[in-house]
Amino acid sequence: MTLPTELRGYALLHNARYNKGSAFTQAEREALGLNGLLPDLVQDLHMQIARIHGQLEAIPDDLQKYLFLSDLQSRNQTLYYAVLMSDPAHFMPLVYTPTVGEACQKFDHFFRGTRGLYLPITAKGRIKQLMQNWPEKDVRFIVVTDGERILGLGDLGVGGMGIPIGKLALYTACAGVPPDLTLPITLDVGTNNASLQDDPLYLGLRSERVRGAAYMAFIDEFVSAVQDLYPKCCIQWEDFANFNAYGILDRYRDKICTYNDDIQGTAAVALAGLYGGIRIKGEKLSQQTVLFLGGGAAATGIAELISEAMALEGLTLEQARARNWLYDVNGLITQARTDLTDFQKPFSHAHPAVASFVAAIEAIKPTVIIGVSTVPKLFNQAVIEAMSRINARPIIFPYSNPTSRSECTAQEAYTWSQGRAIFASGSPFDPVTLGGKTFIPGQGNNVYIFPAMGLAVLATEASRVTQEMFICTAQAVAEQVTQAQLDSGLIYPPQSHILEASLHAATRVAQLIFDRGLARVPRPADIAQHVRSYAYTPVYQNYV
Ligand code: NAD
Repeated sequence: MTLPTELRGYALLHNARYNKGSAFTQAEREALGLNGLLPDLVQDLHMQIARIHGQLEAIPDDLQKYLFLSDLQSRNQTLYYAVLMSDPAHFMPLVYTPTVGEACQKFDHFFRGTRGLYLPITAKGRIKQLMQNWPEKDVRFIVVTDGERILGLGDLGVGGMGIPIGKLALYTACAGVPPDLTLPITLDVGTNNASLQDDPLYLGLRSERVRGAAYMAFIDEFVSAVQDLYPKCCIQWEDFANFNAYGILDRYRDKICTYNDDIQGTAAVALAGLYGGIRIKGEKLSQQTVLFLGGGAAATGIAELISEAMALEGLTLEQARARNWLYDVNGLITQARTDLTDFQKPFSHAHPAVASFVAAIEAIKPTVIIGVSTVPKLFNQAVIEAMSRINARPIIFPYSNPTSRSECTAQEAYTWSQGRAIFASGSPFDPVTLGGKTFIPGQGNNVYIFPAMGLAVLATEASRVTQEMFICTAQAVAEQVTQAQLDSGLIYPPQSHILEASLHAATRVAQLIFDRGLARVPRPADIAQHVRSYAYTPVYQNYV
C-alpha cells in the first residue's frame, strides 16, 4: 500500500486507511508534516491494541463498545482490524450478531457517517452515477441489503446498513479479505415499519416498500451498474425478505458471481456440522436420514444442499431428497398435503399423516433431527429419548436463533440422551459436564463459511458461486476438526482459530474453482500459497 503523494500532515491523520496515529515514526513525522500534530512518543501497533483493549474493558455496555469500535474503524482501519484479529471469537459478537441487531434498530439515533453507499429507489436511472462517488476503483466484494428482514428483527429500512458493514468486517477479520476491496451497500426501497416512518430521526425514504416489477427493475439496474464499474466483483445478498431473496438469487446465480449467505451459507454450515457428526459415527452422509422440525426457508435450503451432497456420494438426487423429511406447523410434509410451497414439494414424500413429531421419529427413523422452527423447547425429553432409542449416536441440531428460541439446550440434549447426542446449535451454549465427562457444544455459525468463500472468490476471480462450492467449503470446515475435539463432542473448528480455518477452506474451494474452469486467473502451482498471498494482514507500512 503506497501513500498517495498529496496525502500529508493533518489530512493524513484523518484518513482512516493510511492513519497510524501514535505509531508514525520520527522519520515519517519529519517527512510528512506531522511534527507537533502528535504527542512526542512513538508507539507500536501492539501498544495501541493494548490501549484499545483497556478502553473497551471500561465500557460496560455492548452497544457502546460497538460504537466505539465503529469510530475506531473510521479513524484507523489498520488498528481496527488488528484489534478484531487479536481475538476474533471475542470481537465477533461485538461487531456483528447479537450487538449489531440493536445497532441497526438505533441506527438513525446514533448516525455518525458510515462506510458504504446508500442507493434510494428514487435515484432510479442514476444508480451508476451515484456508485461512481465511491472512491475505490477496484471493488471485489459487495454485501448488499434492502433492510427488509434484518436478523430476526424485521424491516429496519436503511438501519439495516449495520449488517453489510458488520458482515464485511468479518470477511476481513475471519479470512483476511482486504477491506479496501469491499463495499457495503443499502438499497433504500422504502420501509413498511410504521414506527420508523413516524420517527423524525429516520434517515431513509418515508414511503411504503416498492414491490413487483419496479422493485426488480431497480435490482437489475443496480446489478448492471456493479457489472459495469466492477466487473470482477461478487455480490452477496443479505437479509432480504424470503420472497425477494429467492427471486433475486434465481435471477442472477447463473449469470454473475453472486450468492445469498442466508440461504446458501446457512445450508453449508449445517452441512459442515453433519460432516463433522458423521466423522464421529464413522458413516457416510448418504447413509443418514434427516428429519427437519420446520419447513421454511432454512429447512428447505439445508435439505436441498444435503441432498446435493448426498448425490455426490452416488445417490440420485431423487433418492437423496427421499432421505430428507420436513415436519412443519401443520405436521409431517407428505404428498397428500395441499398447502405446500414449491420449495417444500421436493421433500414431500408418500407417507400417512402422523400424530406428533415423536410419532414421525418413530415412523421415519431419522439419524439426524434439525430444528429450524423458531419455536423453543420442541426438542423435549420425549423427542430426544425417541432419537436415542433408535440411534446409538443421535445427531441433534437445534438451530433456531436466538438462544431463547433454541429447540433444546445442550444440557438437555446431553442429559436426555445419556451423553450420546452429537450436538450443535444455532446459538452458542456453554460446555456441559455429565457423568465426569465434559462436552463442548459446537455453534453452526455461518462465519465458518462466508469469509472463506469470499477469499476463494477473490483469489480466483471466480465467475460463479455454485452449490458444489458450498459443499466443498462444508467439507473443508469439517475435516479440520481434530480427533480430540471430536472426542469432546465438538464438530466445528474452535472459533478462536477462525482465520486458519478460513484459509484452509478457501484453499479447498479455490482448488475446486480452478478444477471446474470457473477461475478468471491462471492456475498457480501452489494454490494454498496463492490464496494466502491475497489475505490482508493488519500491519503498518513504512511510508518513508
Ligand atoms: P421460517 O419462518 O421460514 O420457517 C419456520 C418454519 O417452522 C415454518 O415451516 C413453520 O411451519 C415451522 N413451525 C413453526 N412452528 C412450528 C411448530 N410448532 N412445529 C413445527 N414446525 C413449526 O423461518 P426460517 O427462515 O426457516 O428460520 C427458522 C429458524 O432457523 C430461525 O430461528 C433462524 O434463526 C434459524 N436459522 C439458524 C441459522 C444458523 O444457525 N446458522 C441459519 C438460518 C436460520
